[in-house]
Amino acid sequence: MDVSQTIKWMEIFHAKINENKQTLNLLDTPIGDGDHGSNMVRGMNAVWEGLEEGQPGDVPTALKIIAKNLLSKVGGSAGPLYGSAFLGMAKSMQAGGSFPEAIQQAAESIMQRGKSTTGEKTMNDVWVPVAQALQAGTLTDESIDQLVQSTAQMKATKGRASYVGDRSMGHVDPGAYSSGLLFKALIEVEGE
Ligand code: ADP
Ligand code: MG
Ligand code: MG
Repeated sequence: MDVSQTIKWMEIFHAKINENKQTLNLLDTPIGDGDHGSNMVRGMNAVWEGLEEGQPGDVPTALKIIAKNLLSKVGGSAGPLYGSAFLGMAKSMQAGGSFPEAIQQAAESIMQRGKSTTGEKTMNDVWVPVAQALQAGTLTDESIDQLVQSTAQMKATKGRASYVGDRSMGHVDPGAYSSGLLFKALIEVEGE
């Protein structure tokens, strides 16, 4: 992953977030407050502006610009969580880690920030297994869809969705869905 691929990754993710704004808001309606799509659009607009203005010359610098804008502009709990993920990635890459190691560090950073783990119907249920699949070289669009859909069977115990308790069952988690879009964007970049 070089800096131009990192920027391309964000360009594709930005487009997917824009296309899926309503889907993400609708997923967040029965089990949250209906704003995940709007939050992510705001954040990714800021990320894109930040990358254009910052003209980063290396991957860690690009990742830090992404993190900073997600942290400050997304609003809602997803902002600090996505922000921590990209900051974790930046630190791992700066320390000479491979890209799959950086995603592993990102997943751990989200869990630390969110005081959460897997099986709680959150974005963790995409990030953690995706990190493993990247290490193993087995990540596909289909495997991402399966991970996202698997959150429907889970009961939320963290975040807003935990307020609805058992009624969170049967609904896909919006943060898992947006994370799925992030990794589908990654597959598109790697395929180029
Ligand atoms: P808010 O809930 O503040 O409105 P968003 O709707 O933008 O924020 O984001 C909600 C998403 O954030 C959830 O779908 C879930 O994936 C993720 N999330 C919330 N709390 C946590 C947590 N503690 N750990 C990991 N992910 C979380
Ligand atoms: Mg919300
Ligand atoms: Mg909200």
